[in-house]
Amino acid sequence: MSKQTFALRGTICYSNSPTELSITENAYLVCENGLCAGVFTELPEKYAGIPCTDFGEELIIPGLTDLHLHAPQYTFRGTGMDLELLDWLNTITFPQEARYEDTDFAREAYSIFAEDMKKSPNTRACIFGTLHVPATEILMELLDKTGMKTMVGKVNMDRNGSPLLQEESAKASADATISWIEDTLTKFENVTPILTPRFTPSCSDELMKRLSEIQKKYHLPMQSHLSENFGEIAWVKELCPATHFYGEAYSQFGLFGGDCPTVMAHCVHSSDEEIALMKKQGVYIAHCPQSNTNLSSGIAPARRYLDAGLHIGLGSDIAAGSSLSILRAMADAIQVSKLYWRLADSSVRPLTLEEAFYMGTEGGGSFFGKVGSFKEGYEFDAVVLNDSTIASPLKLAPKDRLERLVYLSDDRNISAKYAAGKKIL
Ligand SMILES: [Zn+2]
Repeated sequence: MSKQTFALRGTICYSNSPTELSITENAYLVCENGLCAGVFTELPEKYAGIPCTDFGEELIIPGLTDLHLHAPQYTFRGTGMDLELLDWLNTITFPQEARYEDTDFAREAYSIFAEDMKKSPNTRACIFGTLHVPATEILMELLDKTGMKTMVGKVNMDRNGSPLLQEESAKASADATISWIEDTLTKFENVTPILTPRFTPSCSDELMKRLSEIQKKYHLPMQSHLSENFGEIAWVKELCPATHFYGEAYSQFGLFGGDCPTVMAHCVHSSDEEIALMKKQGVYIAHCPQSNTNLSSGIAPARRYLDAGLHIGLGSDIAAGSSLSILRAMADAIQVSKLYWRLADSSVRPLTLEEAFYMGTEGGGSFFGKVGSFKEGYEFDAVVLNDSTIASPLKLAPKDRLERLVYLSDDRNISAKYAAGKKIL
């Protein structure tokens, strides 16, 4: 038996389906060469004698995936929350992101970010950097050391930025992107590049065309923003008069799913046509409830996306969202879905704990392949949660314990974390 084979023992919890949890107490979760080999109430004969860490009653859940966040914005999370998207970008975000031209500042800021990411319950993430290549490479180097499996993007923006935060031309942006990809494509064990046009208002048609050629050459996935805020959507309509809906501003360049695996943040106000195209093209939706609340963007119809079978996961959207934990994002997703049901449309049932848990694990994890579950053959990403410090005189069932952790936990409740079979915390 390979020495990379081991077991964890505890209360093991994962999604059987978007609506059903599998919970097994006093069970063994076996990792074989980085992959899940199954959950067993008794260790099978063939695994006799493998190393086993006994976590007692602690909960063991799949590693969580943050499908959308901005590393350079971590410095100012929790501040400037009284603006809507476009004013927030111009007033707070762009001036702060411009600072990453300074690599000393980038290293200091990204060290704090990487350290906190490591302590979070997340094992996977799709992350925006800034438009600066050296700073983005520093971010990738620091994240690589955490052992988390991440995709990181050098941002493209050649219009509507600020004097200090905009690339000179479409060509300059594309050239910088190619040199960044060449530098980083195979450099890291745990971090890979992802194409990152900031959003349509930041990228000229010529830049999108060039990014499309780059995507075809390197077969990279892509991340961006979609239909987040009314002002933004109206602006895209003005900028792209030939398109019928926002998503077409990406799809007309082949940057919207299909052969270009794509994750789009928000989709708060997507039209029926846009939703149909996302479904057809297999576009992933990063639902970012805390961000959508903070920037008064609205409530994305997550229930509709789930029921229609679209790919949907959760994002923290740091720093429009304030909290890194995808457990917190699960609680936020449930809470905003209740407001949507009560205030906007009483025919749209709120999300359940099971559904929010699914979105935070396998829903978003599947953007990385077989990730986010303990079903056999999935990559072994696991988080061990100790809820004994959240005191209660009640004897709680495992599902209630999980729910309490979704609503009440912080990093202090994490006992251990594994990504792709390696212990990283
Ligand atoms: Zn964002």
